[in-house]
Amino acid sequence: MSYSSNNNSSSNLTRSSHYRVKGLVLKHRDMGESDRLVTVFTREHGKLTLSVRGARKTKTKLGGHLEPLVYGDYLIIRGRNLDSVIQGQIITPFKIIKNNLRKMAECIYLVDLVDHFLQDADPQPSILDLTLDALKQQDNLNSNGDLIIRSFEIKLLQETGFSPVLTSCADCGIGVDPIKNQKYPFSAASGGLLCLDCSRSHSNWLRSITGDTLLAMNYIQTVPVEKFAELTLGIELLSELESVSRWYISYVVDKPIEALVFLDQVRHSLE
Ligand SMILES: [Zn+2]
Repeated sequence: MSYSSNNNSSSNLTRSSHYRVKGLVLKHRDMGESDRLVTVFTREHGKLTLSVRGARKTKTKLGGHLEPLVYGDYLIIRGRNLDSVIQGQIITPFKIIKNNLRKMAECIYLVDLVDHFLQDADPQPSILDLTLDALKQQDNLNSNGDLIIRSFEIKLLQETGFSPVLTSCADCGIGVDPIKNQKYPFSAASGGLLCLDCSRSHSNWLRSITGDTLLAMNYIQTVPVEKFAELTLGIELLSELESVSRWYISYVVDKPIEALVFLDQVRHSLE
């Protein structure tokens, strides 16, 4: 017979009613007459859905601190069903993004994409850092949104374990050295490049991809986010990258990414 103590009950008793997080607001939606529900990607606890009481009343500052694309420091009170944000301070407002419709639409897509890859309450600090770094790159008057978004998509796939296979056949593993100006079969279902033999047994989720795009994707995987702006990718390459990434991500995520509709509308209206 031992007297080993069980600390579980005492830790429950001392569990604080408040906690503090640093997080990036991914989205919000109205709840009731004056409240809001916000989805915050926190460093400490991953993705959380929180309520903000009275967020839409004109006199409250808190609502403004919980707009999408704000990185802030928040004090949260535990609730029976939902925890609530009761105080907030902006760490990074990303003002240049917010004052430019195209940049904003690109970044709303970027955080919507991140939202699709996150599970609730599963901390992913390296994905948060990747997202914040991409937003910082974009929060610059001279940023090239297309380049940042294309690079970010590839980095996010890499960080979440969905990186496509780019230098060997995703089915049989035989090495393939992509050459410029050549086309290769690429399968979303198998997760990357295929050799000709293996491609014959596929028909769904199969497309062709140029060696140039394969090489660019491979290269972007090795480039830190701070260097995105230095990449030189031509318009044609960016356009194929966009088409391949959208197609591949739609297979992986298996849900429509709503922010893409808004982004396409904004791009179209600015053409
Ligand atoms: Zn093969």
